Amino acid sequence: AKENGKNQMEMYSSEINTLTMERFQMENQLRKALEREEFVLHYQPQFHLENNEVLGIEALLRWNSSDRGIVSPMEFIPLAEETGLIIPIGYWVLKEACRQNKRWMDQGHRPKIVSVNISARQLQEKDFVQAVKSILEDTQLPTQYLCLEITESTAIKNIDISMNMLKELGELGIKIAIDDFGTGYSSLAMLKQLPISNIKIDKSFIRDMDVDKDDGAIVRAIIAMAHSLELTVTAEGVETEDQKNILLQEKCNYLQGYLYSKPLPAEECLRFVQE
Ligand code: C2E
Ligand code: CA
Ligand code: CA
Ligand code: CA
Repeated sequence: AKENGKNQMEMYSSEINTLTMERFQMENQLRKALEREEFVLHYQPQFHLENNEVLGIEALLRWNSSDRGIVSPMEFIPLAEETGLIIPIGYWVLKEACRQNKRWMDQGHRPKIVSVNISARQLQEKDFVQAVKSILEDTQLPTQYLCLEITESTAIKNIDISMNMLKELGELGIKIAIDDFGTGYSSLAMLKQLPISNIKIDKSFIRDMDVDKDDGAIVRAIIAMAHSLELTVTAEGVETEDQKNILLQEKCNYLQGYLYSKPLPAEECLRFVQE
């Protein structure tokens, strides 16, 4: 039995080593990704539910690694957050998204709002507001065409810091949306203290809302409450006509999901920008 125990220990520690090595490798590759220009943004249109007009576009990061191929953000964003690499990567994303949105405007299309995902770690940077300001100045994108998406947990985690920063950003005319709403422990009343204008219902509630009574009830309650606080609501992850019809009936404002389009490279997203 003792020998068995030892073997198990060895097995565990070699598994841990493999994991550590794997992490270490990915970290090194992630460090080089910016200078190697391996990041690219894909864009997913967001629609007005009533008339199907395009309101905005969410920028979603993709890593096209020369060592590992396309890596999903679910795989590398957590590591980027832990290592702090999300700071330079996050600024790259902001700048690229603003630049692309300005380019579309300059081509003469009706202006759209570009939404960028922001990690908790980024909001902890003292000069985050200043950096966002310079990016807007550099790219010449008018402030009202930028929206920052922060998750519910990010907003609540550092509520005091977030409050001040988000206020400053709001005063600049930048829009703030609460992402993944319903997955954390905040209430809308609590969030309402922040200068936000829109909440995004997490796709986990949308997925089964047409078949699961509880999910349907949650979605309806969030929409009603948000409206009573004069916030607009986006449903993310909408995949079916049934889901869309219920959302329309409940007067949800905006829709984003595979039903209309998956995230696309900028050139392919142009057809939605042209609308
Ligand atoms: P998120 O911000 O909640 O983004 C929505 C995710 O749902 C995206 O996954 C999108 O591709 C996916 N999606 C959109 N429509 C549908 C649908 O109809 N059905 C389903 N099943 N999925 C749909 P993606 O692109 O893999 O991004 C995953 C997460 O990674 C994002 O979730 C966001 O939290 C994070 N992320 C992506 N880009 C960035 C970034 O630039 N910065 C930061 N900090 N996080 C990012
Ligand atoms: Ca988002
Ligand atoms: Ca989400
Ligand atoms: Ca998310």
